[in-house]
Amino acid sequence: PVQIRIRGVEKTFAVGTQKIVALQDIDLDIRKGEFVCLLGPSGCGKSTLLNAVAGFQPPTKGTVAVDGRTITEPGPDRGMVFQEYALFPWMTVAQNVAFGLEIKGMSKPEIAGTVERLLEKLHLQDFRNRFPKDLSGGMRQRVAIARVLALDSPILLMDEPFGALDALTRRTLQDELLRIWEEVGKTILFVTHSIEESIYLADRIVVMTYRPGTVKRDVLVDMPRPRD
Ligand code: ADP
Ligand code: ADP
Repeated sequence: PVQIRIRGVEKTFAVGTQKIVALQDIDLDIRKGEFVCLLGPSGCGKSTLLNAVAGFQPPTKGTVAVDGRTITEPGPDRGMVFQEYALFPWMTVAQNVAFGLEIKGMSKPEIAGTVERLLEKLHLQDFRNRFPKDLSGGMRQRVAIARVLALDSPILLMDEPFGALDALTRRTLQDELLRIWEEVGKTILFVTHSIEESIYLADRIVVMTYRPGTVKRDVLVDMPRPRD
C-alpha cells in the first residue's frame, strides 16, 4: 500500500524580489517498506522535497499525505536524520539515544533496555559515555541513526546522512542501514547526489533533474533488486 502520497507539490521561495521555484508539479507515491533514493544534483530540490515530507517546510501548493492523512507539520510517524549530525553536544551518546524516549514518557527500565539494544545494534556500546565532540563522523551518524530508531517511527527520512563520511565508513554505514532496514521493515526516503550510493541502497530511484531557468523533474527508475 502507498504510505507517502505526494501530489502536485510546488515550493517557491522569495529571495528579495526574486522567486525561486524549488519544486514544481511533483507527484510521487512511496509504498510501505520501500527504500527510495531521491537522486539529483545539488540544488535540484531534494532537501526541499524531503523537508516537505518531514513537515518542516510545507509546500506552497499541493499536498503530502502519510497513511492517507495530509500532513503539514512534523510528527512521530516520520523520523529525520540529517547530514550534519544534529546531536546534543552536552549529552553523552547514551543520553542522546535516550532523549526521544524520555519525551515519549517511557519508564526508566524500559528506556534503559531500549537504549542498550540500540547501542548494540549500532556497535556503540564502548562509546556510550562519550560526548559527540569526541566521536568520529561515522560514529556520530551511528548515534543519529540509533536516536531516530529509538523513536520507532515507521518512516525514516534521511538527508545525505553519509555525505560527509570517507568512502570506507560510508560503505560500512550503508551496509548497516540495509541490515537495519531489512530487520525492522521501515519505509526509507533517502536523499543523495551519488548515483553509486542510490544504486547500492535503493529499491527505487527517483531522479530529480535541474535545468537552469526551469525546474523539471520527471524521471522515475524502478529497480526492484533481489536481497539475500
Ligand atoms: P544540500 O545541497 O546539501 O541540500 P544546500 O546548500 O542546498 O544543501 O542547502 C542547505 C540548507 O540551506 C537547506 O536547509 C536549504 O533549505 C537552505 N538553503 C539553500 N539555499 C538557500 C538559499 N538560497 N537561501 C536560503 N536558504 C537556503
Ligand atoms: P538540494 O537538496 O537538491 O541540493 P535544495 O532543496 O536544498 O536542493 O534547494 C533547491 C533550490 O531551492 C535551490 O535553488 C536552493 O537555493 C533553493 N532553496 C532551498 N531552500 C531555500 C530557502 N530556505 N530559501 C531560499 N531558497 C531556498
